[in-house]
Order: sequence, then structure tokens, then C-alpha cells
Amino acid sequence: MPGGAPRVRFGVSGASISEGAVVLMKWLLVLTMTAAPLAAGWKAGVATADITPQDPVWLGGYAARTRPSEGVTHPIYAKALALEDDSGAVSVLVTADILGFNAQMSKVVADRVRQQHQLPRERLILNASHTHSAPVTGYVLRVAYPMTDAQFAQCNRYTDWLLERVVAVIGEAMNNRQAVTLEFGQGLAGFAVNRRRVGHREWPGPVDHDVPVLKVTGADGKVLAVVFGYACHATVLDEHKVNGDWPGYAQSAIERAMPGTTALFVTGAGGDANPLPRRELKLAERYGDTLATEVANVLKGKMKPVRGPLRVALDTVDVPFSKPPGREEWERRKREASHFMDRQHADLMLQLLARDGKLPEKYPYTAQVWQFGGDLKMIVMAGEVVVDYALRFKKQYGWDDTWIAAYSNDVFTYIPSLRVLREGGYEGGGAMVPYGLPSPFGAAVEELIAEKFDELVKRTGSD
Ligand SMILES: [Zn+2]
Repeated sequence: MPGGAPRVRFGVSGASISEGAVVLMKWLLVLTMTAAPLAAGWKAGVATADITPQDPVWLGGYAARTRPSEGVTHPIYAKALALEDDSGAVSVLVTADILGFNAQMSKVVADRVRQQHQLPRERLILNASHTHSAPVTGYVLRVAYPMTDAQFAQCNRYTDWLLERVVAVIGEAMNNRQAVTLEFGQGLAGFAVNRRRVGHREWPGPVDHDVPVLKVTGADGKVLAVVFGYACHATVLDEHKVNGDWPGYAQSAIERAMPGTTALFVTGAGGDANPLPRRELKLAERYGDTLATEVANVLKGKMKPVRGPLRVALDTVDVPFSKPPGREEWERRKREASHFMDRQHADLMLQLLARDGKLPEKYPYTAQVWQFGGDLKMIVMAGEVVVDYALRFKKQYGWDDTWIAAYSNDVFTYIPSLRVLREGGYEGGGAMVPYGLPSPFGAAVEELIAEKFDELVKRTGSD
């Protein structure tokens, strides 16, 4: 053979058996080492959809806006991460730069992906960044916006289109599945401030500054996706421009620094946290950069492997409201209200009384838990959850491996702890007005929700 004998010879051309065996063992070793990171048996796929509105549309989150959007300063996105564990079960995390998915929106998406992809409801998380610079969504005319019927119809058309995009991005992520490894770590970032102290210096100011990070790495060593969280309102901006606020800038900064990687932001229990100071575009960019920098630090450091299986559970628990005022009081409030929101709220309550003869007495609260082997618990909470819950659950389930996702599946009002309920204020009960609910929660709210999560954590725990 011209050019000399081949370097690797198996017994046939005179090499000893032991030499061949050594070469074979070396190859077996290489194969084993290559396969080792895949031993956990995960597959993952990721996809992104641009959900920036094409036309002017009313933006959600503030009652003070007086007109629809006028342009875009940062595009907004919906993203999906599909995870398949070694049992073959597929679960999908959706994150979106919107104010929130309510129960009706989540049902539309969940029903369609169950039909199209056989994805069970409990294996779908719908989390929103709570940006206050995205369109009003959800079909239900909240009392919080001074919109005309035509402007409301525009919001509903946007919601239809958005949900189609979300269903599509879930299918795309499921189709993109490839072998991956998962790792988890946490950092800290400090721009979230307990906003209840703004008006009440004497109130305690708990915050959750953790930055949980899930790294999804392909078999080729490239980082496919980075999921990261933070517990704070996305309320730096309050203009009439579409913008993902600091979570949008954080995701963009990570994706710019890591070409080919998709960054997904999961909002935590920051119901009573604001980014302070705020109201300048450069601050939204700066907080985004701050978070992206800390995510990069976590990715550079030592992260913990996350194994399967992914055990999941989803359930509702009825949370009672306190006793609401009677018809005469609602009539008085409608007559004497000085703000359009109080007038619209009183009017809605009178409509409900006329239709049903009574007001809703309880709300079915959605609780969901994802447990990754014994390595990571995701406590997935509906509503605008205050920080107390995050601190309570992390203390109970482990500071190093518990991830609190709020603003998930059904953003329908604030969820106060018993402390915040008793203190009162906006998160304690005032927010029931913009959300069109009859009265503050009853005193059982925190314990009922905590008991339900306890049950789900036990149900999804390893044997
Ligand atoms: Zn909010």
C-alpha cells in the first residue's frame, strides 16, 4: 500500500492480539466517555416566535395610559423549551413577553396542544414576563383600561394571533428535540426593591434576589438554551411603545453574547417588587445587562447536573374571597366614584349581581410542580405572587434547588401572604378592583395555597 502501512492494525496483518485488544479498549473508552453526558437521557428542543404587534394596540398594565401603542422600541417574543426525559415523557415550558396568560388563554393553548401533540396539561407551563409594554390580552374586558369597544376588539384580535403563535412555537420546539444535558445553578442580582416600602417605610421589605439558571447543552457541546429567572415587576417603562422591558433586554443580551443560544426568562414571585429607580429606557437596558451578566457568571461557574425523570402535577385549590359589599354599596360606589376604574368595577359587580344573584365567593387557584429527579423543584404559581411565598417555599423545600415561577398559567390578581393581606394596600386587596374581582381574599389564602403545593411536591417526589 503506497504511503506506508496503516497505523491502526487489527490482528489480520501481523499485529499481536494484545495490541488489537488495547486499541479496541481505547475506542470503547472513547465511546463510553462520549456517551457519558447523555446518560441522563434528556432531549430538548427550543423555538422562538416574534409576537410584536403589527398595528397600534392598547398596552397592558397601567390604568393611566390614554391611547394605543405608537411604535416599537424592542420586539417581544414567545419562546418554548420542550424537554423529554428518559421515560419518553415530553414537557414544555413557554415564556412570553406579555403581561400574563389568564385561565382562558391558557385553556385555548393547552386544549390545542393536547389535540395536536398529545401534550398533557400538567406538562405545560405558560409563564409571562409581566412586561407593562405589551398589548392587553385575555378577551375579558378588565375594568382597568379606558378603551373603546373597537380598541377592545383590536386587543382580542391580537390575543387570537398571539395564541396561534404560542401553539406553533410549542410544536416547533417539540419537533426540534435533540440529545442534551441539563445543569442548574444560581446567582444573585440586586435591582428588585420591595415597592410596598415606597409608601410605608415602616413595613418590612422582603425581596428574592436569586437568579436561578438552567443550562441546556447539546451533544456537540453548544449551549442550546439558557432558562433564567428573577422576581421583579417589568415596570421600568410606561410609555406608548412596545417593549419587553428589562426581561426583554436581558434575553437579547444573553443571545447576543451566545450566538445560537435561546434565552428564556421565567418571572418569579415579585408581586411586591419593582425595579428601582425606573422610568428611563437606559435603566431597562441596564437592568437587562445586569441580569445577563449574572447569568453569564453562573454559566461560567460550577453547575449541578440535573437528572430525570421529570415528574409533574397540576391542580386547583378554591381560595375564598372575604365577604363583599351588598348591592346598595356598589350602587353608591358607581354613583360617587371619582376614577373611571372604580366606576367600571362597581358597574361590573352590579352586572354580576343582576346575572347570578350573587358575586363569586371563591377562585380556583392553579398550582403546578415540576420535579427533576432529586435535583431541582419548580414551584409554578398562578397570579402576581408576593415575595413571602418564595421565601417560605425555599426555606421549606431547599434554598439551593427550589425555583419559584410565578405569573404562570393564570395571571388573575395579586396573591398576598397573610402578612400582606393584613397590612392591606394594593397587593393586599386594592388590586382586586383592576382585576374585576369582588373583594380581598379571605385569611385562609396563604395556608390553602401552601397546603396544595405541599401535596403536589409530595406527589411528584422521588420514591
Ligand atoms: Zn403586576
